[in-house]
Amino acid sequence: MGALQISDVKCVGCGICVGTCPYDALRLEDDLAVVSEEICTLCGACVDSCPYEAIVLLKESFEAESIEDYSGICVYAEHRFQKLSSVVPEIVGAARRLKESLGKTVSAILIGDDLSGMQEELLSYGVDEVWTVTDPRITDFAEDVHAEVVSQILREKRPEIFLGGGTIVGRSLLPRVAVKIPTGLTADCTELEIDPETKLLKQTRPAFGGNIMATILTRNHRPQMATVRHKVMKAAERVSPDHLGKIVPMDFVRVPDPRIEVLEFVKEDTETVNIADADIIVSAGRGIKDPKNLPVVQSLARAMGGALGASRAAVDSGWVAYSHQVGQTGKTVNPVIYVACGISGAIQHLAGMKSSDIIVAINSDMHAPIFDVAHFGIVGDLFEVIPEMVKQIQGGN
Ligand code: FAD
Repeated sequence: MGALQISDVKCVGCGICVGTCPYDALRLEDDLAVVSEEICTLCGACVDSCPYEAIVLLKESFEAESIEDYSGICVYAEHRFQKLSSVVPEIVGAARRLKESLGKTVSAILIGDDLSGMQEELLSYGVDEVWTVTDPRITDFAEDVHAEVVSQILREKRPEIFLGGGTIVGRSLLPRVAVKIPTGLTADCTELEIDPETKLLKQTRPAFGGNIMATILTRNHRPQMATVRHKVMKAAERVSPDHLGKIVPMDFVRVPDPRIEVLEFVKEDTETVNIADADIIVSAGRGIKDPKNLPVVQSLARAMGGALGASRAAVDSGWVAYSHQVGQTGKTVNPVIYVACGISGAIQHLAGMKSSDIIVAINSDMHAPIFDVAHFGIVGDLFEVIPEMVKQIQGGN
């Protein structure tokens, strides 16, 4: 897997690395740092801490290992506040479809301080094995601990494919894991399939602002790792209670102490509907001109029973919170109805909403690019159009 090499020429016995190691794997002997190989997890914390560059992490290339040693498909079961994320059934659905081509088992990594109820839910989606670690140090926001625990499980269990959600958690966790393993990572995939000849995972995602689709292969490293865009893959259907899945505790894992301290969790006090889950989204763009006009768009969202979205221009202007941003650097949404109010339709915005079932655009400029993707276009002043729409929806004359 690799090794830690400590240079006795460069080491001055300062002991900084001993204090840094989260696993107590280092000690000083005759004024030189010494590593206990059976304890060291090769996390690399000591390498970064040594001011004398005396410690080197030698990571063996996976090319040297046989990739035949890797088998099966594993998913990361993201959860928060003791509830599985809505992306999890979608990733399990993708994994089960890959299983049809590969014929291997589907497992899920579920770790946290309290997993009650979630193991059984994962089994009900047709997962064959749920790999669990329960420990009070694995709290919701301790991503350093999550990354280390997930890496240890992957190194030991060696799945050939590892999938996570293209969510805020997945986008932060999986890159950390990929670096620790080390392997590649394709972020935000919209399509996954097995190449029938090579049996490699074809990881497809939009590139260049959604103008082309790129298919990426991980030939030399394992696991083949990808995050899956939310609301794109079909969710796994529940299987019959006869499905024989099992819960397998990962007793070999050494859980480190967190290096991140969460002082407080503050819920956003704006409308908290998660736009990634909403069926109807009404979005505001720079066309609303002033934050005091936001209630106009909010009134349409309320009348339609939808959530409030926003373009980056509206977010960057400080009119709407970032959690509402739709697009390449915001959220990808796939609602039944998406209404764009005063949004021009830049490719970065389209990248986050163009797969919506029905797109309605309200814009005073008939040449705005949003009309190229809209199923229904209303050319007009949103301050006149929206109140009229609200009136019609509410049954007024
Ligand atoms: P504008 O382009 O200024 O459009 C405003 C529209 O309102 C115009 O079409 C105008 O005709 C219309 N309008 C004006 N007044 C009225 C009225 N009274 N009634 C009706 N219509 C009216 N953008 C995103 O949205 N999401 C992203 O995630 C994102 N990521 C980005 C990432 C990168 C790397 C970069 C470079 C850019 C990104 N952008 C993103 C920014 C993007 O390029 C655009 O600048 C942004 O989407 C424009 O927002 P807008 O349509 O609200 O504003």
